[in-house]
Amino acid sequence: MKIFIDGKYCSERDAKVSVFDHGLLYGDGVFEGIRAYNGRVFKLKEHIDRLYYSAKAILLEIPMTHAEMMKATVATIRANKLRDCYVRLIVTRGIGTLGLNPRSCKKPSVIIIAGKIQVYPAELYARGMDIVTVPTVRNLHSAVNPAIKSLNYLNNILAKIEANNAGVEEAVMLNAEGFVAECTADNLFIIKHGALFTPPLSAGALYGITRGTVMEIAEQAGIKVSEQNLTRYDLFNADECFLTGTGAEIMPVIKIDGRVIGSGKPGPLTVKLVEEYHALTKVSGEPIF
Ligand code: PMP
Repeated sequence: MKIFIDGKYCSERDAKVSVFDHGLLYGDGVFEGIRAYNGRVFKLKEHIDRLYYSAKAILLEIPMTHAEMMKATVATIRANKLRDCYVRLIVTRGIGTLGLNPRSCKKPSVIIIAGKIQVYPAELYARGMDIVTVPTVRNLHSAVNPAIKSLNYLNNILAKIEANNAGVEEAVMLNAEGFVAECTADNLFIIKHGALFTPPLSAGALYGITRGTVMEIAEQAGIKVSEQNLTRYDLFNADECFLTGTGAEIMPVIKIDGRVIGSGKPGPLTVKLVEEYHALTKVSGEPIF
């Protein structure tokens, strides 16, 4: 595997960062997860834009332009001769002192890893997933805004641990007001009476690229899409429910907190959206070769 670090490729063995990097010491940095399908990088520009938005929000100046970052991403995939893969882009605050002041970090580090990902067991895509709401509340947007895809994912990890303890794969996180925010690494949608609903970003959700793509596909298919606050009651009484994410793609949900959703099987509209999503991933995006 060839890993891009600050403009050079290293082997997996040699791909190392300093113990004084504030990305490691404090989770001070940002990241992206991007996927390539069939020799094309899916939604590359959208992901790179979000990386720069996250960086701007934490006053981190990425030492590369958008265009250079897009080129480096495609080049790293090409160097690894991959046609279908998952790419992790990381920008850390860089090497500093043991104190947390980011001023001690003179140069951010850029890392690009092109590999594989399987976030959920394959059979769950056909069967649908059982999820639970958890006690860990989503970060307040006035504290660490969940729109920032930062290297500090402890809020999400705590919720994931609670999902693990409950014996399920994923957790629904509520915000401090009790409205549904999102899952630990996925956005959440419900379908009720043929229309699609998802929490607004202000509820504590990441501006998901897959979320946006699914909303576009739905609108083009004449399905009404609304961003609105959802309660657990809305989830329990949904006709269908699914999660979206670059890694997860579209995962049907069939049970929430012990309540069976709809018929207890992936719903017909969810299945249709999954098909259209997969069709789109095969034909769109930046060519790698
Ligand atoms: N929410 C969180 C917290 C995430 O980390 C992610 C990315 N895995 C998502 C939602 C989904 O976003 P995207 O569709 O852009 O991958």
